[in-house]
Amino acid sequence: MPGFRQELVGLFGQPVDENPTQAMIEAGFAAAGLDWRYLTIEVAPERLGDAVRGARAMGLRGFNCTIPHKVAVGEHLDRLGRSAALMGAVNCVVRRGDELVGENTDGAGFLEAVRRRRDPAGARVVLLGAGGAARAIAVELALAGAASLTIVNRGAARGRELGTLLAGMESPPEVSVEELGAGFRVPAGADLVVNATSIGLYPDVESLVPLSLEDVAGRALVADVIPNPPETRFLAVAAELGCETLDGLEMLVEQGRIGFELWTGVEPDVEAMRDALRRAFGVR
Ligand code: NDP
Repeated sequence: MPGFRQELVGLFGQPVDENPTQAMIEAGFAAAGLDWRYLTIEVAPERLGDAVRGARAMGLRGFNCTIPHKVAVGEHLDRLGRSAALMGAVNCVVRRGDELVGENTDGAGFLEAVRRRRDPAGARVVLLGAGGAARAIAVELALAGAASLTIVNRGAARGRELGTLLAGMESPPEVSVEELGAGFRVPAGADLVVNATSIGLYPDVESLVPLSLEDVAGRALVADVIPNPPETRFLAVAAELGCETLDGLEMLVEQGRIGFELWTGVEPDVEAMRDALRRAFGVR
């Protein structure tokens, strides 16, 4: 039976049908022999400050933040890590001593998954999307020394906003902004192509990002942030063209691994976490 010393981590968000992250993190706790719990907690936007004070009072080791709290949570924390400050968004809060520190592991998880395949330093990147996930990925790629970033977004204003953020960084990559529309061809020089839009997310699994990969066939690493289903049509097209692929489930596992280490100081059993996540998504 758990006693009062059981350690807690939370997820502050709005009601959702499924919460695969809980399954993944708790599988990690079990595999590491830790008597910890990961709680999903519904927090209304107007009670976010109260919820963070509650987390302090109850001694939570930390918590994840999901939509709609990623930006608003910052003002309730003691400080932000480097990438969270640059992105202006926090998805992972860590208790360090008496302080609550806001980090962003969305982009860091992506970068770790990329690093296992290619060195992002010097890479020429085409990034589709300019929302929260794209922002996180773009900032981490820029910090990792990507040579160029072409932001391709449906909404021109949001694309430009991300372009301006990147161009204002210390030692920025070469930045350009394009509008996503039928007929966009990924240029031949691109090393890494990333779908960071929500196109292809369940249940919209038949949707396909409207662009051509023909000119990078057999050469570029093609990544998709969509974790469910991990086999998106976009990745299927890339694989047919002989491109190496990286799926969104892997990014989510890496993100979970980083959060787990930040909270517990323990390196998790990544296989156990990946298996739990695949089961939660109903993927074999
Ligand atoms: P946002 O709502 O912030 O951004 C959505 C992005 O997708 C925008 O760039 C939007 O363009 C674009 N978009 C949406 N629908 C279309 C469409 N039909 N055609 C063209 N562009 C479209 O969402 P997030 O950035 O937070 O999340 C995006 C995806 O990333 C989600 O599917 C989420 O599941 C996934 N994700 C995965 C993670 C992982 O670890 N694997 C972590 C975080 C997110 P516009 O600006 O024009 O509206």
